[in-house]
Amino acid sequence: MEKLIAANWKMYKTAEEAASTLGNVARRLGGRLPEGRSLLVFAPFTALAATVDALRALPGSAAGAQNMYPADEGAFTGEISPQMIQASGASWALAGHSERRSILGESDVFVGQKTAFALSRGLRVVLCVGESLAERESGALGDVLARQLRFGLAGLRETLDPSMLAVAYEPVWAIGTGKTASLADIVDAHALARELVKENLGPTGLNVRLLYGGSVKPDNAAAILALDNVDGVLVGGASLEADALVRIVTA
Ligand code: PEP
Repeated sequence: MEKLIAANWKMYKTAEEAASTLGNVARRLGGRLPEGRSLLVFAPFTALAATVDALRALPGSAAGAQNMYPADEGAFTGEISPQMIQASGASWALAGHSERRSILGESDVFVGQKTAFALSRGLRVVLCVGESLAERESGALGDVLARQLRFGLAGLRETLDPSMLAVAYEPVWAIGTGKTASLADIVDAHALARELVKENLGPTGLNVRLLYGGSVKPDNAAAILALDNVDGVLVGGASLEADALVRIVTA
């Protein structure tokens, strides 16, 4: 399976900035992703079309939205449907990112509804799960992942095409803090996540990509990507600069 390098740009970059960054990335890569790597960029809604356009210079790459609402259309002010995302040329969405869970108050149930709805409309999903520092320190990692994955993957067992979904393990205390989980912690959490994904999805769960996210940088990406059960990385801060993103893609 190709390793997926997913960039989460959060609330950074206008359309023009997105085009310029990705133009640089494509030039530095000579218009080709390295063997065994794919690239996915989660851009702000207003930069999605420019991102789709710029990624045409890098075959094997794709664009995604950072959020979506689980309905086709309606009176949902400020929200965006899967169909609108797909019409912009993007093919993925994020669900369950810890910033949306903690700042925007998204519940486990809502994250599961979003994931199932997006997939039902043919939009691919990176479902994020992960524990807070207090949860880790109190020994609740297993319970948190079990709960988030039970709700996040609800109703998918019978119908899921595993290539449509990736699960990102992102310890909340490692996101945007410069603190990366140790390699041993990542291996342990991913082994647990793999078991839980299998428990919820059956054998299909073996083919769902598991990504690690949390302060991935050019100098730790290769070691993380080489670990068991790590099929890619979700990168925030370090994905904003073309040079750092290229170094992660080629790590
Ligand atoms: C993220 O936003 O998903 C993330 C992992 O951020 P950072 O790489 O900055 O920790």
